[in-house]
Amino acid sequence: MHDVIVIGGGVLGHAVAYYLTRAGAKTLLLDRNDTGKATAAGAGILSPETNTRDPEAWFEFAHQSVALYPDLVPVLEEDAPGCTGYAQCGLLLVAATEDEVEPFERAAERIFERQRRRSEPSPSDLRAVSPAEARRLFPPLAAVQRAIHHTGAARVDGRGLAQALQSVSQRQGLRVRQASVERLVVEGDRVTGVVVGGETHSAGAVVIAGGAWSPAFGAQIGLDLPVAPQRGQIAHLRLRGQATEGWPVVNAFHGHYMVAWPDGRVVTGATRETGSGFAPYLTARGVGEVMREALRVAPGLAEAEVLEVRVGLRPLSADGLPFLGPVPGVAGLFLATGHGPTGLTLGPLSGKVVAEMALGQPASVDVSAFSVGRGLRK
Ligand SMILES: Cc1cc2nc3c(=O)[nH]c(=O)nc-3n(C[C@H](O)[C@H](O)[C@H](O)COP(=O)(O)OP(=O)(O)OC[C@H]3O[C@@H](n4cnc5c(N)ncnc54)[C@H](O)[C@@H]3O)c2cc1C
Repeated sequence: MHDVIVIGGGVLGHAVAYYLTRAGAKTLLLDRNDTGKATAAGAGILSPETNTRDPEAWFEFAHQSVALYPDLVPVLEEDAPGCTGYAQCGLLLVAATEDEVEPFERAAERIFERQRRRSEPSPSDLRAVSPAEARRLFPPLAAVQRAIHHTGAARVDGRGLAQALQSVSQRQGLRVRQASVERLVVEGDRVTGVVVGGETHSAGAVVIAGGAWSPAFGAQIGLDLPVAPQRGQIAHLRLRGQATEGWPVVNAFHGHYMVAWPDGRVVTGATRETGSGFAPYLTARGVGEVMREALRVAPGLAEAEVLEVRVGLRPLSADGLPFLGPVPGVAGLFLATGHGPTGLTLGPLSGKVVAEMALGQPASVDVSAFSVGRGLRK
């Protein structure tokens, strides 16, 4: 008998398990490790201050979540320095071509208005820079039209982060099994466990953190969870012999970006294929789009070596916000899913609050905007 069973071993499942085991809860994590696991493909950009797509509720939560990283990372990297890939590398938001100037100006207005209203980041940490300054920071860049530099932006490697969360959680007592959860066990109005390989595992609470696969449990408990896979294809390039480690993230306006890592690695993407279904494979069009867009914004990448192209299925909710907390009508059942394109940003705080709720404690931050009750068709 476990206190809590967590279904799913992406960043969300592992973040929940980390905070559960840190609080001393007897926890079992079950992960099928599906092809297309989003966490293994994520670009890892952490920069709420330059996000202009999502509502204020998202921003407040994201801002608090990324603030957890500087304390969390040293704990996770104690035995393996650098294993999460986390670094405060900064970010350049650019209008690469003339057609992007108008959307850039609109975004800049929103970014600087929020900066004034909140009196942060400081004007030296979030400011417009010249095209020449932008290219000095990211040498492969085209001669861009406009640029904003945000020094506080960071990056994190999803695979490394999930692995590090798992290692530390196991030291805190977490049990992990690679297994597919076939169904929930529901007695009356309460979940009492899960079934794996015909065998029942009992628990006081169950957390569904199954990414894009989470809605599969809906039929059993009578809810239609509006979360669907959104395919993302993302290329890993290498600029041999270049010291890329300190380069900032570059974000342009056709939804694509570049993230630089040590050893010349530059990750570029990604497609956002809404309605892709469960099709976790590369396509000619997707790879073509990624390469074309990379070279439009950064022609200096043209001779880079292609190391690999990854594909992930983002768990995208109908309104773009995650589902966090108790499932109405089924005591002991909780969701931590629907994080779409920002699960690495929201992951630490989502994990913390869902762990609190699964342990019967009040959530330490307001998650009403992400309640499971919204948008559910019973
Ligand atoms: C190309 C790409 C770029 C991205 N870039 C960023 C970024 O820059 N910044 C950012 O913040 N976010 C980014 N994201 C988003 C982020 O990666 C996701 O939101 C996050 O990883 C989702 O994590 P998850 O744990 O919910 O799902 P997943 O990582 O998909 O994990 C779900 C796991 O649950 C398991 N599972 C499902 N059902 C069952 C079952 N019945 N039994 C057992 N196991 C089960 C699956 O096998 C899988 O392993 C990006 C995503 C992609 C694809």
